[in-house]
Amino acid sequence: MRIVPITLPTPFYIGPVNVYLIAEDPITLIDTGPKTKEAAAALREGLRRAGFLTADIQRIVLTHAHEDHCGLAKSLRDEAKNAEVLVHDWETGHRIGRLEHEEHRTLLSRAGVSDDEIVAMRRVYEGVRRYGDSFAEHEYNALEDNAELEFESGALKVIHTPGHTPGSCSFVREADRTVIAGDCVLKRVTPNPVLSPDPIDPSKRFHSLAEYLVSLARLRTFAPTLVHGGHGDCINDFEELFNRYVRAIQQRQAEVIGLLPETGATAWDVARALFPDTDDVHRFLAVSEAVAHLDLAHSEGKIELELSGAKEVYRKLGA
Ligand SMILES: [Zn+2]
Ligand SMILES: [Zn+2]
Repeated sequence: MRIVPITLPTPFYIGPVNVYLIAEDPITLIDTGPKTKEAAAALREGLRRAGFLTADIQRIVLTHAHEDHCGLAKSLRDEAKNAEVLVHDWETGHRIGRLEHEEHRTLLSRAGVSDDEIVAMRRVYEGVRRYGDSFAEHEYNALEDNAELEFESGALKVIHTPGHTPGSCSFVREADRTVIAGDCVLKRVTPNPVLSPDPIDPSKRFHSLAEYLVSLARLRTFAPTLVHGGHGDCINDFEELFNRYVRAIQQRQAEVIGLLPETGATAWDVARALFPDTDDVHRFLAVSEAVAHLDLAHSEGKIELELSGAKEVYRKLGA
């Protein structure tokens, strides 16, 4: 199976994004890059070098629906005369009229974020939306866990790997244990578990970090020899990365618990203490990170959580 990585520029802090062409029938593109002129041109050039045109794409598969990965999907689908688009049902970023705003607002204010701050965060995200086009319900199909994406010379197995987002998926070629992992596995940074409503019960938070650890362990069962991530170089030593991630998560958890004052604190207080200098878009990621670690520590019985008015306050045990 010929897997061709193509690296595209993004306007985001994370830097370039990797998309993957599976250069055999049906010609498939895994992720697309953001909707910018620069990314579209780089993609066209990458495809051309591999001997293809955008019109040749028959299938577009999305690891997840963040704009840097899914932004060009709609225009590619139109250009490739209705190539099939596949994305997990638990993703929402690509949907028209994604009405989770209210759910997000509730989650953020429960985490102690002020109304003014929520308005500012939302404004930043509305700016990000222009780097992707939305899909109507009938324009994409659902990726199912354990399904096989068939190709001429074999298959890629779909592995639902929630954590970074609820509907993140990875793709495993069992023949040589190659994995395409989107933002689930990145060479240099531990991926952000982004604050999201639970897809099954949106009034609750998705337990992103606990889910993420399960996803990592699941990928580990395939004993990957090569992992293609959504950003940065590929990974040849998954085991080293796995252990490094687990250590980083444990360290961050200890740090987060250490930041809790006797009187308790909201996730927002903890985020501000962890990342005092963050601005705009990164404040949402900062509070996401704090919530993820506090939730995991709470579910492991290491801290207490109680409701104070409409806010959740975390406390050290016995404080
Ligand atoms: Zn992402
Ligand atoms: Zn990404």
